[in-house]
Order: sequence, then structure tokens, then C-alpha cells
Amino acid sequence: MLKQEVYGRPLVYLDNGATTQKPLPVIECIRNFHSFKNSSIHRGIHFYSERATEEFENARKTVQQFIHAEKSSEIIFTSGTTSSVNGLAWSFGERFIRPGDEIIISEMEHHSNIVPWQMLCERKGSVLKVLPFNDDGILEIDRLDALINNRTRLISVMHISNTLGTINPIRTIIEKAHENDIPVLIDAAQSVQHIAIDVQQLDCDFLVFSGHKIYGPTGIGVLYAKEKWLHELPPFQGGGEMVDVVTFQKTTYTEPPVKFEAGTPNYIGAIGLAEALKYVTSTGLSGILQHENALLDYGFQQLSQLDFVKLYGQASDKSSILSFNLRDIHYYDAGMIIDKMGIAVRTGTHCAQPVMQHYGISGTIRASLGMYNTKEEIDNLVGAIKKVRDMFV
Ligand code: PMP
Repeated sequence: MLKQEVYGRPLVYLDNGATTQKPLPVIECIRNFHSFKNSSIHRGIHFYSERATEEFENARKTVQQFIHAEKSSEIIFTSGTTSSVNGLAWSFGERFIRPGDEIIISEMEHHSNIVPWQMLCERKGSVLKVLPFNDDGILEIDRLDALINNRTRLISVMHISNTLGTINPIRTIIEKAHENDIPVLIDAAQSVQHIAIDVQQLDCDFLVFSGHKIYGPTGIGVLYAKEKWLHELPPFQGGGEMVDVVTFQKTTYTEPPVKFEAGTPNYIGAIGLAEALKYVTSTGLSGILQHENALLDYGFQQLSQLDFVKLYGQASDKSSILSFNLRDIHYYDAGMIIDKMGIAVRTGTHCAQPVMQHYGISGTIRASLGMYNTKEEIDNLVGAIKKVRDMFV
């Protein structure tokens, strides 16, 4: 992918927040599994089924180690962040939410951490409360205390904003929540690929992320939950594998995590994800972060010097995202021209319309960084932005 040309120019891929490109070992691992190892897991006692099951369960252990969960049974495979949040919202809602109960999210959330909670509120007559952010794109954490009360049942926040790049103070949020016996869900879709996560140190109750944003395949994601929750929560899907005994009168469920993995799971996706996590680990997350931070600082500095560029997200604690508009030029027009120069950026709301509403805009241009981006590519982006300005002024 990264060696390709678009419109006769080398591709500059700056859309890593949307999805990442895959390392060759990940591609090879998936190809190899399809070619030589494919068999459905859990169901057979034959040779290949048993081997596939073992690899799938090893993938679960790799995820466990990557986020430092206490047990591999706390790792549930889903199809991605969106399905993790939806599944949890349904399940948590069924078990714990009554009319008048409250859920807190933040103003900067991705739609996938807003809409499932709104759907739950509609279903159960509960209330969604929102922690705002200031114009620099920083959560107004001091206002959290005023939002928490004895009806608060859950706080769900993103670790890193996909529109602003802000790294949120999730440790503080988790501590405050736990002082009030409130569980916390962390949307780590934009953070696992940049920052080492230790769910035990963080002490979060739930954490979700997608495989495709951390150099793994699409269609696979993770819902981490502390073990105690997995015994209390009902399954969010029914079907094969998640059962113990099925009769027409009553069905009993098997133990977590399989209780939450109805049907044939995306076992090849899980194995591909594990390969991606191994790749990231062997490359070194701290080195990746250092590299991306250097590029971010450089890009931010370059763009700040251009008086026709308005940058969104001024937090000092920031990661991998440059979100901006060019004065008097629509982001779609700018994005189209930038694309013609071989540079892939994203334009629009980035599935976070409330962030756009905060600033009174309808969208931004977003450049998002990955481990393979270079300083030259940032220079290309800055050059393209200047060209856009020259064309329009
Ligand atoms: N949360 C955040 C912060 C995201 O950036 C994204 C993807 N843009 C999602 C959730 C949803 O992830 P997916 O589409 O892989 O389910």
C-alpha cells in the first residue's frame, strides 16, 4: 500500500486515525492461515479444528498481555469498537439501568460512544449527561463532580480524541468515578496504537478498541471487562457456542468470555490482530510514540506558522492528530486538491458532530499519523496546503 502511487505521485498516507496499513507479517499470517490452517474453532475434535482453537485462544492471551489484563477470559472478541460499545450498552443497560438513572459521556466522543448510550436511554428512560470541553479541546474535568450524583451508573469516555488528538485524563476520571462506585468504560480506539495501556494500573472496568486501527485486520475488535462484570452481565447475543444447555423451556449460558461470543467468531481476524500486536510490541510502542510525537510537534509548528490555517485541539497532552481548516476555503475543496497531490487526509465531521457543533463548523481536514510516516510527508502536506491557498487566493 505505502509504496503505491496516486495521480503519479507517491502515496502519502495520513489517514491512520480512520484505519492503518498492515505490516507484511500480518498479511502473511492471514494468508498462511487461510492457505494451510483454516478450520472452525471450538466445534471439532479434528486436527485442524483443535490447532485453530489453540491459535485463537493464544491470540486472546496476546491481547491480554498487550493491555495487561489479569486474565485472558476478560478479553472478548467483537467485530470492533462500535460493536463492543453497543454490546456493552445493551448488556449493562439490561442488568443495571432503571428509569431516571444517568450515564456520563464527554462532548468530544465519537458517535460510537454517543449513539449506543442514547439508544439505551430511550429504551430504559435513563438520562445522558455530557462533560464539556473548552475551546482548546481540553475536557473541563472540574465540572465532573457536579455531573456525578447517586443516579450515575456509568461513565464512558474516550482516551484520545479522534478529532482533536487530546489525551484525556482518564486516570483522574476513573479515580473520581470509583470514589463514587461508578464503573468506567474507556474508548481506546485512538490510543492503543500510540500509548501503552495497562488496564490493571488504570483500574478501568471496561476498555474497547478496534484491530484495524492498530495495524491489524478489519472486522475484529476487543471488549475488555473486569471479570466481576462478566459474571453479572447478560450476553448481548444468543446463538451457538455461548450456551451450556439448550431446551425449549430454558437455556443456560456458558462461562465468559465465550458467553459473549455467540456464533463463529472472526478467529482469523483475532489471530491477525495478535500478529499485529506482536509487531507493534517488537517495534516498541515507546519508540513509536516518540517518533509520532516528533512528527506531530513538527507538523503543528509548521501549520501554526501559516496565518490562514486554523488548528483545532491545542491541548499540550496531545497525540497523532492534526485537525484544521483553511480560512475561507471549504474543507472538501481543500481535501480534493490535497488528494490530487497524492496525500490521503480525511475531511468532514470524523463521526464527531458535537465537536463540530462546539466550534460552529461543519467539518475539518484531519491528518492522522502512524508509525511509518515521515518528516518529508509532513513537508509534503504543508506544501500541499500552501498550494491550496495559492489556488484560492
Ligand atoms: N471511537 C473512536 C475514538 C474512533 O476513532 C473510532 C473510529 N474512527 C471508533 C470509536 C469506531 O471504531 P470502529 O469504526 O472501528 O468500530
